[in-house]
Amino acid sequence: MPAYDPDNIFAKILRGELPCIKVYEDAAVLAFMDIMPRADGHTLVIPKAPARTIEDAAPEVLSGLIVAVQKVARAVKSGMKADGITIQQFNESAGGQVVFHLHFHVIPRWDGVALKPHTGAMADKDALIEHAARIEAAL
Ligand code: AMP
Repeated sequence: MPAYDPDNIFAKILRGELPCIKVYEDAAVLAFMDIMPRADGHTLVIPKAPARTIEDAAPEVLSGLIVAVQKVARAVKSGMKADGITIQQFNESAGGQVVFHLHFHVIPRWDGVALKPHTGAMADKDALIEHAARIEAAL
């Protein structure tokens, strides 16, 4: 496996070098809005500890991370008034990973509504802020 790249986008967000729209943070985890959401309320949950994929993350990092994913998933579902939640986690390019810092996608789902395609277009910032506020209020 390639080494962890400390200049990946999420590492820069963690260092405060790039902005994010935050919904949750604790000592070990940061959760923020995906800027190209597959659905309104699409949130990313990342460990603060460097890990490229699920393979090189320490067990104690993973155990804290999945509990945070559950916490955020509950808030995403309730804050976005969703019917369900899709959780995705990709490893390496072959697995669909684009940003090489371990992360979980938490995506609210509504009955009969398909995920939006990956268009590469950034979402409206005000809409992301509004969704983040709804999720944060449900935490
Ligand atoms: P993947 O590595 O395929 O699991 O997905 C990376 C995700 O990060 C994609 O859904 C992107 O839309 C998202 N993304 C990329 N850059 C940023 C950023 N600066 N802030 C928030 N989300 C991002």
